[in-house]
Amino acid sequence: MPGDGPGPTGTSAPVVPSDVPHHRTAGDGWVECACGRRHWGRFGAAGLLLARRDASGWPVAVVLQHRAPWSDQGGTWGLPGGALAPDEDAVTGALREAAEEAGIDPDHVRVTGTSVLRHPDWSYTTVLADETAPAEPAATDAESVEVRWVPVDEVAALPLLTAFGDAWPDLRRRLEAGSRAARSADDGSPAA
Ligand SMILES: [Zn+2]
Repeated sequence: MPGDGPGPTGTSAPVVPSDVPHHRTAGDGWVECACGRRHWGRFGAAGLLLARRDASGWPVAVVLQHRAPWSDQGGTWGLPGGALAPDEDAVTGALREAAEEAGIDPDHVRVTGTSVLRHPDWSYTTVLADETAPAEPAATDAESVEVRWVPVDEVAALPLLTAFGDAWPDLRRRLEAGSRAARSADDGSPAA
């Protein structure tokens, strides 16, 4: 199984099976980054970290995507998301991708903040959000084997996309901190 890629995106271009539905944007393409690696998304990329909270506000589950075998780092788990379209902001792009790939209705989502991973020539924005009405994610296009709610305590045990695995401890802390500051103003500023 792949999974030994060098970083957030590997080095081999995804080969999309021709007989399955696949959404494309003008942002699809590789960036040769000064960090020495290539990243997917000519205008950057974004993903949605959607959290379900219990009655006390504590995050209990998040939506993860089991990535299709043919995709970059195929077989790993990560966030629904992908390349941004030209002139598309990260929140809009993450919600669009989550709807396309995971069937998540943006009307059932409240964005609570963002976390930006910056590279010299590329960036990835994680859009943190809370479920406001029941969201039933499902694999709705070729990029996913499965999309489902994963208990927060079980996330780290899954084979994660390298970049998501690196980011998860901090993202989890932010989700948990959000339970104590749920009524404060949205924090849209990047962590960096
Ligand atoms: Zn880079």
